[in-house]
Amino acid sequence: MLLIKNGRVVDPASQTDAALDVLLDGERIAHVAAGIDAPGAEVFDAAGLVVAPGFIDLHCHLREPGEELSETIETGSRAAAHGGFTAVCPMPNTKPVNDNAAVTRAILERAAKVSPVRVWPIGAASRASEGEALAEIGAMQQAGIVAVSDDGRPVATAKLMRQVMDYCRALGLVVIDHCEESSLAAGAVMREGPRSVRLGLRGMPAETESIAAARDIQLAALTGARMHVAHLTTRQSLELVRAGKQQGLAVSCEVTPHHFTLTDEDVVYDTRFKMNPPLGSREDHDALLAGLADGSVDAIATDHAPHHASLKDVEFDSARFGITGFETALALALEQLFHTGRVSLVRLVELFTTGPGRVLEKTRRIAPGEPADLTLFSLDYEWTFRAEESASKSRNTPFDGRSFRGAPMATIVSGRIVFRR
Ligand SMILES: [Zn+2]
Ligand SMILES: [Zn+2]
Repeated sequence: MLLIKNGRVVDPASQTDAALDVLLDGERIAHVAAGIDAPGAEVFDAAGLVVAPGFIDLHCHLREPGEELSETIETGSRAAAHGGFTAVCPMPNTKPVNDNAAVTRAILERAAKVSPVRVWPIGAASRASEGEALAEIGAMQQAGIVAVSDDGRPVATAKLMRQVMDYCRALGLVVIDHCEESSLAAGAVMREGPRSVRLGLRGMPAETESIAAARDIQLAALTGARMHVAHLTTRQSLELVRAGKQQGLAVSCEVTPHHFTLTDEDVVYDTRFKMNPPLGSREDHDALLAGLADGSVDAIATDHAPHHASLKDVEFDSARFGITGFETALALALEQLFHTGRVSLVRLVELFTTGPGRVLEKTRRIAPGEPADLTLFSLDYEWTFRAEESASKSRNTPFDGRSFRGAPMATIVSGRIVFRR
């Protein structure tokens, strides 16, 4: 038994924010109360720390199978634990693509051996994510996928997206949508605007995302499917999600820490600022902050996208898209959202726990009988992030050397402490 004593328990499901102890018995939470006495239990003194339900990351790339030079399930999941995440959802764009049950099972078997956190794979929507024919969605669901997405290679035709949604609705799976109108994005490496002109880099307009989001939200209405916008970056797409919710559609969205922290004005000739979707305008950035505060954004997701230096330390135009994100996500959220007073502590925790949980129809609560997954973090701990010390295999982050106030201090999965700072 493990007794978490003297912590500040923040549980969005019950709107709790109180000084409570939490007793874990094996893989489950046994008791939550003030002043628990449990003779014989191992005691973790959480004085000064927030005790939250285990963080879920809806969106990451672990690169295994196929690109183990950039990341493996082992290194990526360890970086996730360092970031306070107790469950992560790897996207299917591995090599081979996770578009059939054999790949899903291989990922889950590997994770069971080496991952300190839960790995909940996302299956491809189309075969090889090529946008031609449906992937083996039903068989992958039996094998353990939690959602469906062609992340990185957006579903190009409305016809196929409609089929994917029809199928996923019948199976009760959420469709996670990398919203991108491919013809507008072709050849672009950043957001189109004054900055892209000044840098002489090809940009894609904000409408690249919102045109695709508008199409697919309408298809969600047509099919009744649950649809989740991945890494939402523009004011227009956020307004479309808001309108969809008001109509009663099962539409949700996530925002990444880099998109709510940086803008296209931060982009320099450094490929650590190259990601897809690209950093948006100041106006978009401010809209994201408002959405994170008012409840229209459901989750913070990292889109952790590790790339080996050989794929990133090249010309801007030919570098891979994406940055790492597990280990800086909470600290950036505290910096941008909590320390600025934009969101309450309960809302911040919701964005990492019950919010993404709802998207997957999984509960996250600190209550007896629930899984013993907890994230303990400090609001004040001062530290500097060093990419070279990262648990990830890759170093492609624009936040190397950034100093933070607040950090994950311990990650507990199924009653076991898998990370402690
Ligand atoms: Zn994507
Ligand atoms: Zn992604």
